[in-house]
Amino acid sequence: MATDIKGECDICVFTGPSGAGKTTIVDHLVDKYVNKLSFSVSATTRERRENEIDGEDYYFMSEEEFKVLIEEDAFLEWEEVYPGKYYGTLKSEIEKNLAENNKMILVLDVYGAQNIKQRYGDRCFSVFVKAPSFNALIKRLENRDTESPDSFQKRVKQLKKEMLFEHSFDQVLLNDKKKEALDQAEKLIEKYLI
Ligand code: 5GP
Repeated sequence: MATDIKGECDICVFTGPSGAGKTTIVDHLVDKYVNKLSFSVSATTRERRENEIDGEDYYFMSEEEFKVLIEEDAFLEWEEVYPGKYYGTLKSEIEKNLAENNKMILVLDVYGAQNIKQRYGDRCFSVFVKAPSFNALIKRLENRDTESPDSFQKRVKQLKKEMLFEHSFDQVLLNDKKKEALDQAEKLIEKYLI
């Protein structure tokens, strides 16, 4: 059964296909609800993009470093989201925030989001961010212009699979018109922060 968003939840996960706008929405929420919402910084082996800051957007690391952390059991969950590109939620990141009674917000792929949801049950509220169509996702990925041709193809391959997860989470948020999506996301988060 779907979880209702409510004050007792302390983990909110945004998930959905690449290009659906999860990060844009979550960045907006973290800016707007500063000091109330803690962004969980994931570890990744993908290349840092120009506008990204190590330790704020992700902990960027080599595959070797990531694999050492796997060996040390440092992750709550991790996935090879694209061939050769690893992403993971660090236990330390979540534990630190839970110990400080912070309300967290995470951005994860659909498999990672399912893992966290399973582990935390009703403490976790999950939001699937959906683009209006497959073509819209492709367009957004193209316009974002952050991927090499090879990485772009890998992401396109994943999209169709990821879109099938729409009904596996607590709430679907359609990101067609940005302003409407941000308004809807704010309403959700205000219930979460009560
Ligand atoms: P991007 O490279 O576009 O920042 O992220 C690619 C995908 O990896 C997105 O779906 C993003 O939500 C997901 N992702 C980011 N961090 C994590 C994480 O810690 N674990 C998992 N499973 N996926 C993540």
